[in-house]
Amino acid sequence: AHNAYNSDKGTNIQVVLRCRGRNESELAAESPVILEPSGHKDVLLTTSNKRFSFDRVFDQNTTQEHIYAEVVQPILDQVLEGYNCTIFAYGQTGSGKTYTMEGNLEQRTDDAGIIPRVIDNLYEALETKGTEYSIKVSLLELYNEELRDLLNPSNHQQGRQIKIFEDKDGSGVIIQGVDEKYIQTAEEGLDVLRSGIKYRSTGTTKCNDKSSRSHCIFSLTIHIRESVPGKEDVFRIGKLNLVDLAGSENINRSGAELIRAREAGMINQSLLTLGRVINHLVEHSTHIPYRESKLTRLLKDSLGGKTRTCIIATVSIAKMNQEEIISTLDYANRAK
Ligand code: ADP
Ligand code: MG
Repeated sequence: AHNAYNSDKGTNIQVVLRCRGRNESELAAESPVILEPSGHKDVLLTTSNKRFSFDRVFDQNTTQEHIYAEVVQPILDQVLEGYNCTIFAYGQTGSGKTYTMEGNLEQRTDDAGIIPRVIDNLYEALETKGTEYSIKVSLLELYNEELRDLLNPSNHQQGRQIKIFEDKDGSGVIIQGVDEKYIQTAEEGLDVLRSGIKYRSTGTTKCNDKSSRSHCIFSLTIHIRESVPGKEDVFRIGKLNLVDLAGSENINRSGAELIRAREAGMINQSLLTLGRVINHLVEHSTHIPYRESKLTRLLKDSLGGKTRTCIIATVSIAKMNQEEIISTLDYANRAK
């Protein structure tokens, strides 16, 4: 009965905007505020007096708990009904993607982001239902159009490749060479995540570091067996992908060095293809260009069709980021 996903065009893609308040350096530079949320769905870009609207706009004072309750909980409900769902964090480096997706992973704090809250609430929901279930997780990094299994990084060092196949009827995705770990408790889920996250690539210099150029994909697969007295058991499989995308600033950037330029080009590929795939889905095109990037191939069975997708676009509100703010608003707006 939750209807927030169905936009006027009748798609299952929701785009929300999360504003980040000015940080220390933006305040120190006295960079003025140029984004003013108004109501629940609109934001005003003061420098051009232009309004943008989204399925939801969250201002800079929005708590992690609020984002969870408004955006994530309804999606988790769908996952438990057997849907494949994906939540993306999209935005420039430093705008709050990782804060939104992970936040504090150490303990149950106000700063805990989507992933720790999902894991906690998942167990709570399943235990309350009293059904038989199993949960497995995987954690992948996509860097330079190459996939790495963060739960088994030695595989990558040994040169074992991760392969993506489509199953016979083309609707499902089979991923070969990836460890899926069964977890028994929320604590164990967080442990697995924390131990994998530390293998995420990081580069040498701060502003050009690898983590801003890589996508991080945490997936939960939930098998549920429900027994109904007097009837046959009902089996359901739901999947939730939580994706911390590469920094969107890389879309327009090409480095001086050849390798950097190539890397930037590759990141263009997955981010740009994701944008195109979402546009095509919104427009109900018959041909969706999933095959044009690894990210969209990987997520094919969780994008379009019987799925729910949410893009959380994250932005600073400070004028010094104006160019990136505008490009994020445009990208997110096109996805609507
Ligand atoms: P990104 O992953 O997009 O590069 P981060 O999530 O790492 O950005 O955020 C950059 C910094 O800003 C971090 O120190 C993070 O804790 C902080 N931050 C981001 N969003 C918020 C927010 N909504 N409220 C408070 N702090 C935030
Ligand atoms: Mg990050």
